[in-house]
Amino acid sequence: MVRAGDRQQEQLRQITRELQEKSRLLEEQARHLLILNTDLAHEVETRKTLEVELRVLATTDPLTGVYNRRRFLELGEYELAREARNGRGVSLLALDIDHFKRINDTYGHGVGDTTLVRFAQTCSTCLRGLDTIGRVGGEEFAVILPETRLEGACEVAERMREAVGNCRMSGPEGPFNITMSIGVAQLLEGEGFDELAKRADAKLYAAKHAGRNRVQT
Ligand code: GH3
Ligand code: MG
Ligand code: MG
Repeated sequence: MVRAGDRQQEQLRQITRELQEKSRLLEEQARHLLILNTDLAHEVETRKTLEVELRVLATTDPLTGVYNRRRFLELGEYELAREARNGRGVSLLALDIDHFKRINDTYGHGVGDTTLVRFAQTCSTCLRGLDTIGRVGGEEFAVILPETRLEGACEVAERMREAVGNCRMSGPEGPFNITMSIGVAQLLEGEGFDELAKRADAKLYAAKHAGRNRVQT
């Protein structure tokens, strides 16, 4: 009788030891999983940040921070599709800094670069939230003005020309001013973005030809 009781107690102790060991292992596994889970959460966050950075790199001009040419053209197509539905008018501005080469030649490429940055910032402050500005070439920029007809587009262009003309750029020998020329065109029925851009460019060249520092429609 006594021996049978001892055996049972010994078995119970054994089972208790095994259970304690299993519980310890489970706790260890849980801790391990928690660490893995935290690592994974960090990994997901890092990837999300990288994705955003990649998107920014792929869509913006690294110097001025405005849209790059590729993204600007995509957004142009998008605005044309929207215009086809709402018919409120969409206009395009072609912007070009006058005699920009002289700035590089006179003050150096670094001053040329900071001038481009100030220029893009100044133009951006003249725009509404729904307008889109992009750098389409070296010192050539363009603006899409949704829900804007020719007259409204000219007003924006004139405001921009004045703001840029009044902006004091910083050079090594003190501040200097720049001027810009602008070509304006409103989308015609049945026209594609390429044709609209060509017409705005033609107006820009006309503005250059007519003496620069002006808005041409
Ligand atoms: P116009 O009035 O006819 O427009 O004359 P312009 O001198 O502005 O035009 P042109 O096309 O002859 O010269 C543009 C210059 O812009 C030449 C090029 O070296 C310069 N440029 C293009 N991209 C950059 C850039 O990222 N940084 C700097 N500093 N200069 C640039
Ligand atoms: Mg120029
Ligand atoms: Mg140019």
